Amino acid sequence: MSSATGGLKELHQVHLDLDACHKQLKNGPRRIAAHEKKLTKKQAEIDAHKAHITSLQKSADEKNLQIRTNEQTVADTKAKLNQAKSNIEFDIFKGQIAKAQTANESLEDQYLELLEQVDMEKAGLAEMKVELKEVEAALQKTKDDFSALEPQVKTQVADLETELHEAEKCIPTKLMGQYRRLVIAHGPSTLAPLDASACSECFVELSPQNIVEVRTGKLVICKSCGRILYSPDPDNGPDA
Ligand SMILES: [Zn+2]
Repeated sequence: MSSATGGLKELHQVHLDLDACHKQLKNGPRRIAAHEKKLTKKQAEIDAHKAHITSLQKSADEKNLQIRTNEQTVADTKAKLNQAKSNIEFDIFKGQIAKAQTANESLEDQYLELLEQVDMEKAGLAEMKVELKEVEAALQKTKDDFSALEPQVKTQVADLETELHEAEKCIPTKLMGQYRRLVIAHGPSTLAPLDASACSECFVELSPQNIVEVRTGKLVICKSCGRILYSPDPDNGPDA
């Protein structure tokens, strides 16, 4: 078979390999950015949770202060009972004591409930901090992995670019301009192997004459999608 056919297959492979390398170089920073976003979100969740705990604790402290104030009122008013100048005044003091005591029963329930909530939310916060550590570790691993991979891939890219320059010699000079435009438009799928008698990119059937041309190494461009066609198995010839 013509060397041009094998050359096109090789050229396609170099394009595919280069594309895979470029994707690796792009995906690394993307994955790092995704992990960083997750970390920022987790940190914000923790900050909001801490603010919630502070607010609950503040409410609990206020309840506690009200309880202490009411207890003081009860003690002070009890001391006044003996000095009541009339039954009416005595009854007023009694009423004030009862009122403060009733208020405290309810306040103590609320206070205990708030303390329980604070404990529960603190346990939740501890779990969130563990999750934060996990997100941080995942981010660091992604960064480390990419730092190790990046120089290798860049070396590969440099080698493949040299290979590409060589492989492009199978494109006739008069078609080079068209080839360059196709590469800009379609990237690695500028070239497409034949799939039986159809273009593997757009699945449109080729004329029998075009099939023979592709198999004998002539540079054929798919009339439907504009890809440069080649025979995936040039050594088998037209009768394969
Ligand atoms: Zn096509």
